Amino acid sequence: MNYKEIIDKAALGEVLSQDEMVILLKLNENEVSYLFNEAKEITEEYCGNKVQIRAIIEFSSFCRCACAYCGLNSYNCNIKRYRMPLEEIINTAREAYIAGYKTIVLQSGEDLWYTKEKICYLIKQIKSIGDIAITLSIGERDFEEYKAFKEAGADRFLIKHETADEDLYNRLHPHSSFKNRIKCLKNLKELGYQVGSGFMIGLPGQSYETIAKDIMLLKELQVDMAGIGPFIPHPETKLKKYKKGDTFLTLKVLALSRLILKNTHLPATTSLGVINSTHKGIAFSCGANVIMQKVEPYKYRRLYEIYPNKAKEEKTIKQERKELEDYILNIDKKISLNRGDSFKKKYFKFMK
Ligand code: SAH
Repeated sequence: MNYKEIIDKAALGEVLSQDEMVILLKLNENEVSYLFNEAKEITEEYCGNKVQIRAIIEFSSFCRCACAYCGLNSYNCNIKRYRMPLEEIINTAREAYIAGYKTIVLQSGEDLWYTKEKICYLIKQIKSIGDIAITLSIGERDFEEYKAFKEAGADRFLIKHETADEDLYNRLHPHSSFKNRIKCLKNLKELGYQVGSGFMIGLPGQSYETIAKDIMLLKELQVDMAGIGPFIPHPETKLKKYKKGDTFLTLKVLALSRLILKNTHLPATTSLGVINSTHKGIAFSCGANVIMQKVEPYKYRRLYEIYPNKAKEEKTIKQERKELEDYILNIDKKISLNRGDSFKKKYFKFMK
């Protein structure tokens, strides 16, 4: 089968073999337009022409983990750690809501200072502001805590599987295990969360076959969202000497994921934009339908360094939202005015 036939097969919803997926991941610049066009059509068919804009509050840079790629790893003594006070997090969420955001992503390192009670308090306060969906991205906690957060009103949870290669995962995460990560994802599904996973492109030791496995795992988990971004080396990590992930390959992975996952939210990730802002724009014409915007005060943004990132000119939440909206309109997309819940049917019954 040639690559066009493989793309047609995937578009029809037929399962691709690992070898077929690898063929698509290896397409060159001249061949890739067929893949990108098909991904664009499927995005329009399943997600419409609208981009979902999410606000993300990175509320703590303390972390108990030792992820080999992440600048917030617990061994890094060369960063200033911060915790946003609860009221400041709530006020930031309120300001974001007023600026037009309907999803607030609460992200942090794995920081147990934010106990079950504190997180539940945050969720309840933010939910009382208005029609806001809350996504938690705070790492691994036990079933009971995930349950309490759900009961307090959390809607979604983002916890990436990072890589589907179990050995590689375990080497990169000495504090935990691939099995536990998957258990967390399954617990969250069972609790009725809209679940987001995802993985990095360009991790040392990753192959095309691993990437095919990553996409198949997303399919198997039936995730509602998947964040796929290039790895960026951070000088204060074990992986500091490795090279960054390839952004062209990231676009191909995004397009192939769209072909296979159909009605799943796929963001144009921040890390893609950090390495190549043009490619981040292209992401919206080959599969992406979501974008996230940081909204915490700049004094914190500068310190939340999971990977190196250039400082940006300071603007208000409102100004940044306006610029993002202009950007989306400029690439011929529309702005979604709803919460951007999962496209998967089972959630619709909760929403009615
Ligand atoms: N502590 C939370 C949030 C992690 S940070 C959790 O464990 O889920 C959010 C995501 O940033 C991670 O899931 C990872 O995929 C990504 N990330 C971290 N370090 C990175 C790096 N150096 N390059 C690219 N992406 C990175």
